[in-house]
Amino acid sequence: MSGIRGKPEGLPDTAFASPMGPLRTGSRIAIVGAGPAGSFFALHALDIAGKQGRSIDISLIDGKSFRDSGPGGCNMCAGIIGDGLVKKLRKIDIPLTSQVIRQEITGYVIHARGSEARLRRDPDAEIYTVFRGGGPPSLTALKENISFDQFLLDFVKERGAEYLPHNVTKINEPKKDDAPASLILDNGVVIEADLIVGAFGVNSPLMGKIPFRYFPPSTWHTCQAEVRWSSKSVKETFKGMVHIFPINAGGVEFIAATPKKEHVTLTAIGTHVKWRDLVEAANASDVKDFLPTDWKMNCHCHPQVPVGPARFPYSDRMVIIGDAGYSRYLKNGIESAYYTSLFAAQTALHHGVGRVHFEKHYDRWCRDMFGMDNVFGRLMFFIHNKITANRYLADAEQDRLLYEQEDSRNGTKKLSSIIWHLFAGELPYRKIMLKSLDADLQLKMLGHLARTLAKDKKNIAPARG
Ligand SMILES: Cc1cc2nc3c(=O)[nH]c(=O)nc-3n(C[C@H](O)[C@H](O)[C@H](O)COP(=O)(O)OP(=O)(O)OC[C@H]3O[C@@H](n4cnc5c(N)ncnc54)[C@H](O)[C@@H]3O)c2cc1C
Repeated sequence: MSGIRGKPEGLPDTAFASPMGPLRTGSRIAIVGAGPAGSFFALHALDIAGKQGRSIDISLIDGKSFRDSGPGGCNMCAGIIGDGLVKKLRKIDIPLTSQVIRQEITGYVIHARGSEARLRRDPDAEIYTVFRGGGPPSLTALKENISFDQFLLDFVKERGAEYLPHNVTKINEPKKDDAPASLILDNGVVIEADLIVGAFGVNSPLMGKIPFRYFPPSTWHTCQAEVRWSSKSVKETFKGMVHIFPINAGGVEFIAATPKKEHVTLTAIGTHVKWRDLVEAANASDVKDFLPTDWKMNCHCHPQVPVGPARFPYSDRMVIIGDAGYSRYLKNGIESAYYTSLFAAQTALHHGVGRVHFEKHYDRWCRDMFGMDNVFGRLMFFIHNKITANRYLADAEQDRLLYEQEDSRNGTKKLSSIIWHLFAGELPYRKIMLKSLDADLQLKMLGHLARTLAKDKKNIAPARG
């Protein structure tokens, strides 16, 4: 992903005369939700305020403990941290350590009708898997390890933010321009703040209780399962690669199988996937060959994933970030949270905390980054699903991928690069779309399609003579 907005340096003093002006020394920020978006916002805001020579108070509020096992302590995701985010974290002095990393990922394997195309990452790229909570109940050894969300939260606390282990039950708008906004915790305590940041994701009941005109993103209901296996079997079977299986049946578009040392995370993506759909799809496809013979779920969950933007995720003294605001279509949600939190923190500390400031800066920057690009993303996934659902097109695509992987002279590997970026999410969708319109690649694909059709005709032709 690209395109961080330029930071305006310094503002005239008059900007601070407005009650909705930029945050200043002594301002209080209450962040609802301590997942990636909440923690990233705190980190960005503390960083910007520090550079401005201001001291601000930040409270991160979340009733979930990311040390607890099972869905109750987890922010439910496949837990793949791509190269872009790994490098950004290192840049802000939060390098991922062995304490949080479950497994290094060496590439993606694309399955189609019994064949596998292996796409390896660049040698200097880094991709890791993590747990987003204390791990499945079958995991006994997470004591010396830590979840990604806890890891981030610990950094935020170390840098000076306060953490309140509560749920927020209500948010109130400011009564007038110079009055604070407020929220109520589940123990009845009221907290007043110059800015309330909604980082509550798309799985929170709070989404339906926002006191201003806010339309949450549309979502899909996914299903995930953790399957326990021996770390030796996971290592030998997966060889450090994430496996993508097109399904196109029972409401499941595809299943991703992600290795995590002694667990495999199965992620079934589709509009409304139930655990039964996931089990049936896995057992009826090649997925089962990558699991223990008598496999069972050790933990499962039904997280929602945003597939569209929110509308009006801001008001006076309030801004909604992360999944509940904007994110990249079906990929890199955590990296998206990094950007939306950065845009919101830049707006609040450089421009102001009024509706008008968030509309003019935060919302526009998010739409610039995700708006049109997600339209291309949706189109790319739609086309790819249509291809994988058609046996001839699927075989032709796989044929091309295998050819590119096997032919050492073929330096460009155009289709491999497209599929890599689609699943690893390292390029804007617009750029992936442009790559796929390459005339030379289209011609080659026609050649592979012709070969596939010819092979099929030969196979079904009646024996002569
Ligand atoms: C099946 C699936 C697989 C995914 N895989 C990946 C992946 O591999 N890589 C990737 O980068 N992204 C992935 N994502 C996306 C990623 O999970 C999200 O983009 C990311 O978690 C968004 O962060 P967030 O902070 O906005 O929300 P969340 O992570 O949902 O965090 C919200 C936090 O708010 C808290 N909260 C909610 N309500 C309240 C309340 N009332 N009071 C206090 N706290 C509250 C919650 O407890 C939670 O901790 C996946 C998503 C799904 C559904």
